[in-house]
Order: sequence, then structure tokens, then C-alpha cells
Amino acid sequence: MSDEETLVKVSIIPEDQVSSGIVNRLENTIGSIFPEQERGKEWDGTISFTDPGVEEELLAILNGVVDSSRISTDPRDRMLKSTGKSSLEIASLRNGEVPRIVDAVVSPDYDEVEPLLRVMRINGIKGIVSGGLTGVTGGFRRAGCRWLVSIDTSRMKRFVPGDGYAIAGPGLTGAELEGFASSIGYTIGNFPESFHNSTLGGWISTGASGQESNFYGDIEDMVLGATLFRSDGTIKDILSPRDSSGIKAKHLALMSEGRNGVIGDSIIRLRRPPARRLYSSSFFRDFSAGIRFLSVQDKFPAIARLSDPVETAYLLELSADPGAKKVLNAFLKVRGMKYPGSLMVMVDNGHRTWKRIKGAANTGARIARKWEENRYGRPEIGNWLWKKGLTPDTMETSCVWADAEDLYSKSVKTFNEGIEALGIHGLIMAHISHLYRAGPAIYFTFILSTPEPVAHLANIRDLLEKQFLSCGGSITHHHGIGTFFRQYVGKEKQAMAKLMEDPVLGDCE
Ligand SMILES: Cc1cc2nc3c(=O)[nH]c(=O)nc-3n(C[C@H](O)[C@H](O)[C@H](O)COP(=O)(O)OP(=O)(O)OC[C@H]3O[C@@H](n4cnc5c(N)ncnc54)[C@H](O)[C@@H]3O)c2cc1C
Repeated sequence: MSDEETLVKVSIIPEDQVSSGIVNRLENTIGSIFPEQERGKEWDGTISFTDPGVEEELLAILNGVVDSSRISTDPRDRMLKSTGKSSLEIASLRNGEVPRIVDAVVSPDYDEVEPLLRVMRINGIKGIVSGGLTGVTGGFRRAGCRWLVSIDTSRMKRFVPGDGYAIAGPGLTGAELEGFASSIGYTIGNFPESFHNSTLGGWISTGASGQESNFYGDIEDMVLGATLFRSDGTIKDILSPRDSSGIKAKHLALMSEGRNGVIGDSIIRLRRPPARRLYSSSFFRDFSAGIRFLSVQDKFPAIARLSDPVETAYLLELSADPGAKKVLNAFLKVRGMKYPGSLMVMVDNGHRTWKRIKGAANTGARIARKWEENRYGRPEIGNWLWKKGLTPDTMETSCVWADAEDLYSKSVKTFNEGIEALGIHGLIMAHISHLYRAGPAIYFTFILSTPEPVAHLANIRDLLEKQFLSCGGSITHHHGIGTFFRQYVGKEKQAMAKLMEDPVLGDCE
């Protein structure tokens, strides 16, 4: 350990990016529900921590296998590589609770990964793979190990195009990958809200799903093959459109959350971008009416995002001016509906799926275009809330259509009873984010105003997760398990997952 311990300051929430217009609207809407005197303390988004230092012995081992220019011991790097973007992690950091900070960040080149893992195994060094660090499931939390190293994939950004596929590096961000694909006339088709920061390796490892999954599929539909670096060797799939020769590297890589190996290059399917995009929006009487409409459809637009009335009201407050809201109010009244109703934003690729939705108030293209303009902007609102002393969070699940209405209404009720029991203020809203013939993914956003964010978040999240499960929902639709949801995974499944783990990347004993 180094002789001197140093106090280090690091920014967890980026500088304000929200426009002053939106800030005023946020103050008027969300701010008015949570009066200033009832919020937590305002926060500048930074934390200070004491650097525990790094053992020379560990550095000597790493230096023996990776070029020293690719090893960082900078305390800011190490802190930022030790946390994801989940609300529980942010709330703990804001509370001054510092996680186990990795001892070093290694950014290996392709040919250094396998030897690095081998040497780490021999020397009992544990590793966590990091991509864009946008994971929200506590996947970077490890406790109890002597040496813990972050294996950063940012040097692995190869892109080799083929005809209808590309070989692509795990460290490419969504925006970089899509940029390469579009430069040769293709699209990848995966557009998660974290598109600008999350990486291909992260997508595969968490089982990500983008906003246009109804059209392009989820990440497992896009990956034809993968390379998996392990401490006992490297497994690599052949270049082939399909191959039934047993379990492949891609199967071990998908949803492995960094535990089965370091995902290297993958073979990714390329698609032609649509010739045109068609925008539309409709208002349903309520969320149930929207769910019932969706449940009997055979085909869906690339995006069909149905918001409940609370989310609809906020979307309108944040984006529509008073005149537009007045017109909408009158229009809904004529259609026998109460403002705000349940908004569905639709974007079609190529052909319109639904010409007019019977029983809904059809409101044209403008709202959908506006939604698309801000499709990656919601996290900025989250950042604003954090700085105002509030605690925002999200949880998601999927279920069959028959369970959807029940799951939604019981989850909202559970949340409201939960905050009442805790004696705190809160707000919950939801939308249907992804559609399948068998059922939807439902995405809940909530805000707590609490003096004890960590304990209260944990409590509310547990109540919601148990409610999802008791209504037949999945633990998660696309965020993954990480460390937060492992308690809800059956013992047999956990034991099976353990069999595939690389000992370097598993838990510290
Ligand atoms: C604002 C915001 C919006 C989001 N929107 C979406 C969304 O629309 N859809 C969605 O699916 N998710 C979304 N997420 C969650 C997150 O972006 C995804 O889980 C994403 O796939 C994580 O990618 P990443 O590169 O940031 O991975 P990281 O956060 O760096 O890592 C996540 C996990 O993957 C492992 N990992 C990363 N790279 C590799 C690799 N090369 N080999 C092995 N393991 C690896 C890590 O060890 C960790 O366990 C969102 C998150 C945020 C903060």
C-alpha cells in the first residue's frame, strides 16, 4: 500500500446539459410535486474519496504481461471503472459510501487479453470487464478480493465489413458502430437509450434491447458469432450465417455479464436502413385500452411506445406549449376522452403498420417526430433530478399479454403503498417499450423524495420486483441480473451459470 492516502474528487453526474426552457418546465411540473423544502440536499454531482493506493507487487505482475502504457492507476479512472449507472450505486456514492475501488485499469490490445487472463488466474487476481459503464444492475460490485483489476475494452474497436455482416470489436460504442455501418450503406438497428455510451461488448453481455427491437430484434438476433477470451483459452465461432454444431462462443457470451470471459470481436448482422420513416401518434382512453389494442395485433411498427396517463402528462408538460395542450384537450373531449389519456408514439420503417387506430384519437406525426428528436435525452432529466436532491430510478420486466394490465396496475399500487408506508413522497409512471406477439416489455420510471435514498430505493425496488414476479413477469427484460437481481434467480439456474464462469471473472471468495 502506498504511504500516503490522497483525497480525490471525481464527477459522477456530468455537467448540466438540460436547456433552460426544459429546466423551467421541470421546475413547474416535477419540482412542484416535490417542494424544495421536502427534497434532499442539492448535489453538484461530484464525490470525494480517499484513494486506498495500489500494491507494487500487483503492478509488477501486470507489467509483465501488458504494455505499461495500457495500465492506469489514476484514482479517478479506478473509481469510474468501479461503478455502473444504477440509481442504487449513484445514491450510495452521493451518501459518501465508496465501493471497492479496482486496483488498476488495464486496457489490453486484442493479443494481450488471453495472456493477461492466464496470468491473472495464476496469481489469484480477479477481473471485471468494463465497456461503456452504463450498466444498471450493480455488475461492477465485487467485495472481498485482495486484487481486483478492471479490464477495459476501449482498445478493441475493429470494424471489418462483409456482405450483410461485419466483424466488430467489443469496445465500439453504439454511435461508433452505427457510424461505421452507415458509412457502407447499412444499419445495425440497435438503438438503446444509452446508444452514445454503451458498447457492443456491453450489449451482448447484458442482453440489450434497442428502441426499434420490434423491427430489428434484440441483440441475440443480431449476433451471428463471437470470440470469447478466457483464462483457459479462447473460443471463437466460425464465420457463417448459421451453424448447428452445438453451443457456441456467442451462447456463452450472450447475457453472461462479464463472467464467462471477455467478449472480443463479434460477427454482427447488417441490415439495409429503411427507405423512409413514417411517424404517427394516437391517444387511447387509458393505458388498458392501449394494451388491449396491442395485444391482438400480429405486426408492430418499429417503435410503438405506449405511455400511461402519468407519463403522457409529463411528456406533454415537457414538450408541448400551453396552446397545443389546449387544442389537444379540446380534441380529446370531442372524441369522448379525458386529457391526457394514454399516448402512443409510433415510427414505422418502410411501410405503415396501422393506417388509423379505431377507438383512439389519432394525432398525426408531430408528437412522434418530437419524441424521436429527444430519443436519447431522458438521462439528462435524470441528472437534473439527482442534482435537485431527488432520487430517480427505473425498473423493467416483460410478461404475456394476459398478465400485462394486472402487472401494471398492481405495480403502481405496490409503489404507492410502499412510499406511504415509508412516509415519503414519490411518483411512478410507465410505458410499454418493446413488443412481441406473446406480450410486452413494461418499463417503470419512478422518483423518490427521501432523506434515506439507499435504504428506501432498495425497499421499493424489492417490492416492485416481487410484484413483477408474482404477476408472471420476468426478473428483467433487458437490463440483466448483475448483483442486484441475483437474489431473485433460482438456485439451480445460479449453479448452472457458475459452471460456465471463468474463475478470474467470477466473485471474489
Ligand atoms: C441512461 C441509460 C439508458 C439505457 N437504455 C437502455 C436501453 O434502451 N436498452 C438496454 O438494453 N439497456 C439500456 N441501458 C442499460 C445499459 O446501457 C446496457 O445494459 C448496456 O448494454 C451496457 O453496455 P456498456 O457498454 O455500458 O456495458 P458496461 O456497463 O460497461 O458493462 C455491463 C456488463 O457487461 C460486462 N461487459 C461489458 N463489456 C464486456 C465484454 N467485452 N466482455 C464481457 N463482458 C463485458 C460488464 O462486466 C458488466 O457486467 C441504459 C442505461 C442507461 C444508464
